[in-house]
Amino acid sequence: MNHTDGFSNWLVIDKSAIANNVERMRALTGVRVMAVIKANGYGHGILEVARTSVDAGAVYCGVARVEEALELRRQNFEAPILVLGNTPAEKMGEAVGNRTSLTIFKPAHVDAVESAAVSAGRDAVVHVKVDTGMSRLGAKPEVAYDLVRRLHDAPHVQLEGVFTHFAKADEPQDPTTEQQEAQFLDLMSEIEAAGLRPPIVHAANSAAALSRPSSRFDMVRPGMAIYGLCPDVKMPLPDDFRPALRWKARLSFIQRLEAGRGISYGHVYKTKTEETIGVVPVGYGDGYRRVPGNEVLIHGERVPVVGRVSMDQLMVSLDDVPDTLIGDEVVLIGQQGDECISPEELGERWGTFNYEVICGLSARVPRSYR
Ligand SMILES: *Cc1c(COP(=O)(O)O)cnc(C)c1O
Repeated sequence: MNHTDGFSNWLVIDKSAIANNVERMRALTGVRVMAVIKANGYGHGILEVARTSVDAGAVYCGVARVEEALELRRQNFEAPILVLGNTPAEKMGEAVGNRTSLTIFKPAHVDAVESAAVSAGRDAVVHVKVDTGMSRLGAKPEVAYDLVRRLHDAPHVQLEGVFTHFAKADEPQDPTTEQQEAQFLDLMSEIEAAGLRPPIVHAANSAAALSRPSSRFDMVRPGMAIYGLCPDVKMPLPDDFRPALRWKARLSFIQRLEAGRGISYGHVYKTKTEETIGVVPVGYGDGYRRVPGNEVLIHGERVPVVGRVSMDQLMVSLDDVPDTLIGDEVVLIGQQGDECISPEELGERWGTFNYEVICGLSARVPRSYR
């Protein structure tokens, strides 16, 4: 018996694909890799992705929130973790006590992190975040320079990094990234001239790491690429990257229905002739979307989802796959036979993009690791 037997729907995560992608990223960029594993490892499972990435050579893991870092520490994950987002002062002591590196971007943070380090009884490791044009978190360059100087002088703080984040790295023809990088370089040369350069300067997300060698500095911060997914449909990954995630289910019921039967809530679909309808135990409560036009794979064929997707189930028309039985495998994301449904395809169909598709996979869907 396979351990996924008896699951209604589940994700299969290929850890060797994640390891391969981290190794490819290292080889391609020639610099250190921070695996970005926020939002439950982009839906892939934060702990497994963290362990796999570090085993494959990532030197750092990046999370968005301190709670994500603390959860990894509770699971005895030992490698360096940087909280890329804001850490409230109230949480800094616990973070430092758990060897979690913090992002600093405003003057009030300096005293807060220094006193957190004193109370935790261990030096705080920090990275200064510079806003060069993303206009989200970050200090303007002048403020960043001051932060670097003050953190450098704070007795219980180790200034380990300075970083920025690009707004349009997935549009390589757009001049914005160039301008952001130029601002960042100006600031870095001032910091260097003052003898304050920390060991890890970083800027590049997946898109920049792939397309812009000058943005790689000492470390890249890929998220999407380590899952084997492209940062933009117009920016495919090199051929040797592999997607890590597949989403599968098993048909829970099949029935032959007469013409004119309404299917699912609202009866928005009615059988035109006698039709075989299968039930797939996947719904919007799992992260599938209740929009028209969905397709899934059965026996290597694309079959249409008919009627509204409900919270836990959806219906498919099985007339084009006549030998289908209850228990047969259904693929919602991934390859089956010669067909493949990618997160990019679903993103298009759902009026969004691949990032939101995978981050939306619910916690209740079990993850199975290979
Ligand atoms: C999410 C994130 C990344 C990774 O972005 P990808 O596009 O998935 O590579 C890198 N840096 C920061 C600051 C982020 O928030």
